[in-house]
Parts: sequence; structure tokens; C-alpha cells
Amino acid sequence: MKFTLVPVVSLSLGLWMGTAQALDCEAVRARFQCDAQTKYPLHLSFDDGPALQTTDVLKVLKQEKIPATFFVIANKVDCPSLAKQCQTEHANDPKACLQPMRECEQRKQILQQAKREGHVIGSHSYEHLHYSEVAPSLMREHFRLARQVLDPYLNTTPPLFRLPYGDGWFNREQKPQVLQALKENGFQHIAWQFSAFDWDEKNQQGDKILSNVLEQVCTRKQGGVVLFHDGVHDQLHEGRLFTTTHLKEWIPSLRCVVDFKPLSFFEKGYTPRR
Ligand SMILES: [Zn+2]
Repeated sequence: MKFTLVPVVSLSLGLWMGTAQALDCEAVRARFQCDAQTKYPLHLSFDDGPALQTTDVLKVLKQEKIPATFFVIANKVDCPSLAKQCQTEHANDPKACLQPMRECEQRKQILQQAKREGHVIGSHSYEHLHYSEVAPSLMREHFRLARQVLDPYLNTTPPLFRLPYGDGWFNREQKPQVLQALKENGFQHIAWQFSAFDWDEKNQQGDKILSNVLEQVCTRKQGGVVLFHDGVHDQLHEGRLFTTTHLKEWIPSLRCVVDFKPLSFFEKGYTPRR
């Protein structure tokens, strides 16, 4: 018995998947009740990397000529410290650390690549903690380490920083010590206006993440910086796979509604440096 495979792709899915057929921007705008005439400025930012899968994001950004910002966790590229930690955990099996160390070096190269390709690199601290809740001495130590470890990569003056969970930013009135400590380490904080909510597993299906962004932009009728993730904060080597593998398909639909802009379009007070 012979089966013939017939690709069954609904029209709407085809539109969203960015397939060969022309994307119907009118349908995209109608779905989110977007103004037909307006293109909103948007800047893509990615948190929690660098991960090995960050290369997939870099590839898309290069092809599409889109400038982005990466807020990276310093301990992911602090290879000497990771080596020490790994060797302590695997004292009887030194070979167990070969692969993790190889991956740490890869992450450093990927971060260097992101910088070379013109993206802004900012700090997302040393670890991914709620910094308003930890001991002030630990918070200060992590901000200092973030500055030191990321020094070869940070490419703005002053260097930029985004707090994990926005903790210390959203609650800056109640917890002013967090932003104060950032300032003491010479960092400028960068928040976000839209979230893709791509960290939430229930959004990691179909076009939910894309819809989240378009819905927010079209409802508020304004542009801004949008938060995506290219890494997972407690997994050193893994990317936020749904975003890193699907970003390419979302770009055409986004372009129906937004114009991609550099971070400097929204944020002032810093200058780029090489
Ligand atoms: Zn984060």
C-alpha cells in the first residue's frame, strides 16, 4: 500500500509560518486591530544568554539586518570559575569537565561574535537572582563581578545593565538600594516596554509568542523595546529553544507592523564603543 504525503497547511498558518506565499500584511494588521498606516518602532532585546543557540538568533539578525541588544549573565562566560566549580563537583572524574569547559569557551566566542556583528552587549548580572532580596554584600559583589567578567564584551559607555526579573527596577521606590548599587558600579539600567512572554512554557507553541508582541504593540499603539530570551538562566548551555528556532518565521509578520530600530532610538545617555 502506498501513501502519498500531502502537505496540509491552512491558509492562516501559511501566513504565519512565513512560507513562500506572500505574507498578507493586511490580514496581520486586521487580526491585531493595528492601524493600517502606522509602523511602530521596535527594538529586539534578548536576555539570559549567551547560549550555544544564540548563534541561531545572530544568523537571523544578520540576514534580516536587525540590530539587537543582548543582556548576558556573566557566570556563563566566567570559564575559570566554572572550571573550579566543576572540578570540585567531579573530583573523581576530571574528564567530566571537558565538555562543559568546551561549551564555556564556545559561549565566549558567540558573545564575541554578537559584539563583532554590531549588537549592543549589556550585563544581566553575574547570576540570575532577585537582587532586592539578597544580602547587600552579595548584590554588590555580583554587580562588581558582572562588570569585571563582562569587561571584554560590554560595548557602551557607560555599560548597560538589565536587572533579572526587573527586580530593583519595578520596585525602585521601595528598594532604591539596587539601582544605587548599579550606579556605584557605573552601570546604566535598561528596562523594557513589551514582553514576548517566551519564558512561559504555555506560550511555546504555534504563534503565541509573536501574537503576544503584536497584540501589545497594536493595543498600546506605540513602539518600544521588547524582551525575548535566547537562554535559560539556570541552564548554562541551553537556549530558549522556541524563540531561537522560530524567530526567523516571526520577522515577516512583525515587519507588517513595526520598523526595527537600534536601542539608541529609545534609550539615551550612553554612547557605543568598540
Ligand atoms: Zn533574565
